[in-house]
Amino acid sequence: MHTKEVGKKLFLIDLQTGGFKNLIASYVLKGDEIAIVETGPTSSIPNLLKGLEELNVKPEKVAYLAITHVHIDHGGGAGTALKSLTNAKVIVHPKGAAHLNDPTKLWAASQETLGPVATMFGKPEPVPEDRIIVATEGETLSLGKGLALTAIEAPGHASHNLAYYEHLNRGLFPGDAAGAYFADSDIIFPTTPPPFRPDIALASLDKLVEFKPEVLYFSHFGKAPEGIKLLGHYQAQIRMWLKITRDGVRRGESTEAICERILREDLTIQKAIPAVATDPVSRKTLIENSVEGFIQFVKNPRT
Ligand SMILES: [Zn+2]
Repeated sequence: MHTKEVGKKLFLIDLQTGGFKNLIASYVLKGDEIAIVETGPTSSIPNLLKGLEELNVKPEKVAYLAITHVHIDHGGGAGTALKSLTNAKVIVHPKGAAHLNDPTKLWAASQETLGPVATMFGKPEPVPEDRIIVATEGETLSLGKGLALTAIEAPGHASHNLAYYEHLNRGLFPGDAAGAYFADSDIIFPTTPPPFRPDIALASLDKLVEFKPEVLYFSHFGKAPEGIKLLGHYQAQIRMWLKITRDGVRRGESTEAICERILREDLTIQKAIPAVATDPVSRKTLIENSVEGFIQFVKNPRT
């Protein structure tokens, strides 16, 4: 199992979902109370529990599971995790609560969008209503020893994406509001599947920048120094993809052609290509789904 200290009283567990390293992270905050940010999906909850053991955290000592959004790779495992984390409550955006409690629709949508990747993540189990805490903009959870999480509404990737700012480490858990991070090449990759809203995502990023995070803690994947710089790069990248997609749609190009154009013109992605091109999961979840989010927005902008 892979656990790592990534800040003051802050630890990362590599969930190794489906055997893939550096794909999905959970974070453990050890204050007077213990909180976990992101449970990851159902299939890797055994790995989450092993990680807690490695960190000498007894399952019954975990007080909170703060999830950034209910997509099954982030909060899908919450229901299963609660069976072992007997005193924990799940923190979620108000719009996500119903999906945690009854994941039927969420699971159907996940299977449709992700296909075999959804199977790899596993079907979410329901979270009992009395174990859900809804968090809204600006609410702060103090864990003791200086650790505190402030919830920030950061829609765009999902309409209910919460980011969490952690005060002791001046760090930000963006969920998927700031893309996916590739530590090897220090670059961000868009996480923009339909129904993606680039306009709303850019406004959320403006808000995250205002917190001046020194460090980003990505769910996909890991600790990234120079938080503000990366958020700025991601904004520029979203604008570039939007422009390429607009041009492509105007010319009547196929999805495949627009994907190819983005792969050619986005130098950031060219840098990351070796990692993405060799891994079918990354290719499906990162490139194709993300480009499709832009295409659908351009063809049918919602307001
Ligand atoms: Zn995700």
